[in-house]
Amino acid sequence: MIPMVNLKAQYAEIKDEVERGLAETIENCTFILGPNVQAFEKETAEYLGVKHAIGVASGTDALHLALIAEGIGAGDEVITTAFTFIATAEAIKYVGAILVFVDIDPRTFNISPEAIEKAITPKTKAVMPVHLFGQPAEMTEIVQLCEQYSLKLIEDCCQSFGASIDSKQTGAIGDAAGFSFFPSKNLGAFGDGGLVTTNSDKTAAKIKQLRNHGSDVRYYHDVIGYNSRLDEMQAVILRAKLKRIDQYNQARRHVAHLYSELMADLPLITPYEDELGVHVYHQYTLLCDRRDAIIKALQDKQIGCAIYYPVPLHQQNVFKEEYSGLSLPVTESVSAHCISLPICPFLEDDSIREIVGIIREVLTA
Ligand SMILES: *Cc1c(COP(=O)(O)O)cnc(C)c1O
Repeated sequence: MIPMVNLKAQYAEIKDEVERGLAETIENCTFILGPNVQAFEKETAEYLGVKHAIGVASGTDALHLALIAEGIGAGDEVITTAFTFIATAEAIKYVGAILVFVDIDPRTFNISPEAIEKAITPKTKAVMPVHLFGQPAEMTEIVQLCEQYSLKLIEDCCQSFGASIDSKQTGAIGDAAGFSFFPSKNLGAFGDGGLVTTNSDKTAAKIKQLRNHGSDVRYYHDVIGYNSRLDEMQAVILRAKLKRIDQYNQARRHVAHLYSELMADLPLITPYEDELGVHVYHQYTLLCDRRDAIIKALQDKQIGCAIYYPVPLHQQNVFKEEYSGLSLPVTESVSAHCISLPICPFLEDDSIREIVGIIREVLTA
């Protein structure tokens, strides 16, 4: 049996540190915005090379609050990808903005800069690229477009903690960014959690106010805010994992490179990498014509695999009427051929060889 992610193996390594930190928090009763949240914010800001990092309750909230803080609202168009998790689109809908889906690059599965430029109208206010599966989007081109057309750039970094492009961490490039600490993410909590990053003092102040009931000073409220704070207990766990994040991401890259090397001669397309970007492999996703046969063979051996994402957002029930005229050929084709294999820092080489052996058997039978 090989699961998609092995969170148990990771826990064994950090157990003592986590238990000590949790016990201390309970002893001290510092449950809300306590010393661990403050320390974690400082440590992640330093790690990411960004001026401010503000802990919030989830990645979805991080994106939502970032959009509000950047002044995106009703009637504004926000350009994004349809090949992502639903939360990217939900955040844009929450602020009343108009979702504009554009197509992706077939190599990286990330939003295409050319498609962004074609979709810009006088109503366009922001672009929200997703660094999908841990692969940085083409930020040099996207930053340039946002500058040229005076658009806000809000990065969805929910799958890309530790990824970088041109020596810049994702989350340190746009006007603001949202990270998720959902348990299976590269940096995962033991529950929900999220983070907004920004270099703007104004945006940071706004996020701090929004996450805490619209309040800067206790019991004085300036705007309608939210209850969206990063939990102190989760911050204890995240601090333990943050210390090891480079090692975890390095291990993920090793897994990915071994997969790609072992499958180089097979009739499938392994993930693309270029020398500019550091891919942190939140997922290891290939394209293959015989996806169903591979899935069946892996399932028969109790090996995890998944389709991220089986239905692009513009074809989901929630959006399909609104976008019935929209065709995104690359997105639709990738969605019909993609398959993600088990990956985590604790996947052993022997397991990778076993998985590739099964795929090889299917494709060469
Ligand atoms: C996980 C994820 C989110 C949402 O994060 P939550 O913490 O689950 O709210 C948003 N966007 C992408 C691309 C994600 O993978």
